Amino acid sequence: MTLMTRQQYIESLRKLNLNVYMFGERVENPVDHPMIKPSMNSVAMTYEMAQQPEYEDLMTAVSNLTGNKVNRFTHLHQSTEDLVKKVKMQRMLGQKTASCFQRCVGLDAANAIYSTAFEVDQAYGTNYFENFKKYWTMIQENDYTVDGAMTDPKGDRSLGPSEQNDPDLYLRVVERRKDGVVVRGAKVHQTGIVNSHEVVVMPTISLKDKDKDYAIAFSVPSDTEGIIIIYGRQSCDTRKLEEDADIDLGNKNFGGHEALMIFEDVFVPNERIFLNGETDFAGMLVERFAGYHRQSYGGCKVGVGDVLIGAAALAAEYNGAQKASHIKDKLIEMTHLNETIYSCGIACSAEGCPTAAGNYLIDMLLANVCKQNVTRFPYEISRLSEDIAGGLMVTMPSEKDLRDPVLGKYIEKYLQGAAPVPTENRMRILRLIENMTLGTAAVGYRTESMHGAGSPQAQRIMISRQSDLEQKKQLAKNIAGIDDNK
Ligand code: SF4
Ligand code: FE
Repeated sequence: MTLMTRQQYIESLRKLNLNVYMFGERVENPVDHPMIKPSMNSVAMTYEMAQQPEYEDLMTAVSNLTGNKVNRFTHLHQSTEDLVKKVKMQRMLGQKTASCFQRCVGLDAANAIYSTAFEVDQAYGTNYFENFKKYWTMIQENDYTVDGAMTDPKGDRSLGPSEQNDPDLYLRVVERRKDGVVVRGAKVHQTGIVNSHEVVVMPTISLKDKDKDYAIAFSVPSDTEGIIIIYGRQSCDTRKLEEDADIDLGNKNFGGHEALMIFEDVFVPNERIFLNGETDFAGMLVERFAGYHRQSYGGCKVGVGDVLIGAAALAAEYNGAQKASHIKDKLIEMTHLNETIYSCGIACSAEGCPTAAGNYLIDMLLANVCKQNVTRFPYEISRLSEDIAGGLMVTMPSEKDLRDPVLGKYIEKYLQGAAPVPTENRMRILRLIENMTLGTAAVGYRTESMHGAGSPQAQRIMISRQSDLEQKKQLAKNIAGIDDNK
């Protein structure tokens, strides 16, 4: 089976024995948990849409490992066209879910490890590339969802991994055995881990010689012994536990999630190790993964932005304000910002190039410019959507009040907008805007836009490294007639 159906995916999750905690208690059945389920639905869309002929071209690809048709979320990019299709697929899924569909992290990790492992092997005669090819063939053939785990807790940011008071603040090898290693540490902000079959772990920063034990990349099944997952809170998350609160949720079907993932002495067999002590390659792995994920935001955030722009336009219509010139201008500005992000996502893909291993890498400068824009533009798009929506999006009574036999008529009467729009529709669209800008989906659309795939300063460092100022200075000298040798 190289393509799972939505139902097969859900059933496959039921077979996992994940060690998940929420509110201090173990979650026995994550698949049917009302707070987790919307996030599972978002990942399930990556399976569902891959089955539909009209999306086949975006959602599937031919594997370079097996020649089989695979879900694009498991594909090793073979061309710039593949890179462009990835971004288009992400925009489309953002439009369908208005949230984070989680599966991109594993895809980005795979492409980064594939090319890095190849180069490590060339330098050191190791066997990581073969390990990874075998592992990833298994992933493609089973159509698994893979979580990519990079971000360590990092403790005191002024100290390196091996200088911390507590050496576990960066994930590390604590025991070396003949058949593998034992690792300890944690990964924070783990997108989609509860909906994932597997996790691929990577170092989080470039490392020095003394950090050898921290230079470890590997994979394990997500329910491996020693893994503890503590589910992250989101703003307004317990609304999902309330009855008769569909309107209040804003987006009742879809969502995303993050979690704190702890590795309490987890054994990793040799065949699942893709980097082990080669500190000089940690930086390359981090940069490539970050580059791919910065490209990813040029798709997913744009798709979510499309829904938000649509919601703002509807809110204006429902208020009878759609003809006001300042409203039209704000919608133009939102579109301009959104498409600017997309332009960078497409540009860094179209300008990609092959790695020594053969898969394609994005243009690093453009991918970093893409993400730098993402640290700003969704905030401005959110601000404009709140401007258009009006204050009611945060002061409105609940769905229960709307349905109440006594109070309902007051809600209907006083919250009505332009006729003939039902009051309920107006409430629905305002709640959707609330959800995306302040509620559960705001994790993915706002704060994650800032910090996901690296905080703004991380991109500025990469932009400075890639900007080739010397060449630009020479260009200026040429035009200005400056010859330093004269
Ligand atoms: Fe994919 Fe976007 Fe979610 Fe990252 S934030 S996993 S790129 S949908
Ligand atoms: Fe992310």
